[in-house]
Amino acid sequence: MKLRKVTAASAAVLALTVSATACGGGDKDSGSGGDKIKVGIKYDQPGIGLKEPDGSFSGFDVDVATYVAKELGYEPKQIQFVETKSADRENALSRGDVKFIVASYSINDKRKAKVDFAGPYLLAHQDLLVKSDSKIAKGADLNGKNLCSVAGSTSAQNIKDKIAPSANLRQNPGYSECIAALQSGAVDAVTTDDSILAGFASQDKYKGQFKLLGEQLSNENYGIGVKKGDKATVDKINAALKKMVDDKSWQKAVDENFGPAGYKNEPAPKIGVIVK
Ligand code: GLU
Repeated sequence: MKLRKVTAASAAVLALTVSATACGGGDKDSGSGGDKIKVGIKYDQPGIGLKEPDGSFSGFDVDVATYVAKELGYEPKQIQFVETKSADRENALSRGDVKFIVASYSINDKRKAKVDFAGPYLLAHQDLLVKSDSKIAKGADLNGKNLCSVAGSTSAQNIKDKIAPSANLRQNPGYSECIAALQSGAVDAVTTDDSILAGFASQDKYKGQFKLLGEQLSNENYGIGVKKGDKATVDKINAALKKMVDDKSWQKAVDENFGPAGYKNEPAPKIGVIVK
């Protein structure tokens, strides 16, 4: 009787352990080619994170994510990319939808209360994209103008807090909607990181239409988001990022993804050092 009880209890513990391992974006999926890892990226940011029409993915964040996943023991074919829009990132990590997020995700204190970050792996700056013939030349010129940014982004928050509190700010789910609004004349400017805006501006369909003002309105330290408390994963990702810089893969990914956009990026940041 006693023995049976213990056995039942151990079986319950075992079942719990098995289902716990299946959580957190690193699923056992033995039916279709072994373990998979779920990684959050952007789907609509050329040069950063883009889902191509053929279903493949490109961009600097995609290359960083692929390198990091490999260091964690996952081949490219084992990666399942998941779209994590700016406003969804903290929740996606808390729910365990993805193991980590590489999505132009700036490290800041508000987010650090909800998630943990590895990195930083890139330093970008908030900037403004306007039509080529626009008279807008600096952040303060936006007051009273129609401006577009993305919900849940540091870019939108900075506008409200300090850059242009009386701009008429429209917040969309993604930057591609903002670029379409700029092209149609529905807004006078789009604001977010220079790294993102440069990628849009260099696309063939927009060539010659927009200009990037080079304002450097903030420091955006891109980190890799992980679930709060998952220190083991943070440590592994930091080791992977350091290796990516040391073996020159970081520079190769920069050249391939930012070169075509003419984006002059900052040098590789040091792990754990945030530029305020
Ligand atoms: N890096 C900024 C942020 O994390 C803007 C880009 C984005 O929305 O992903 O909010």
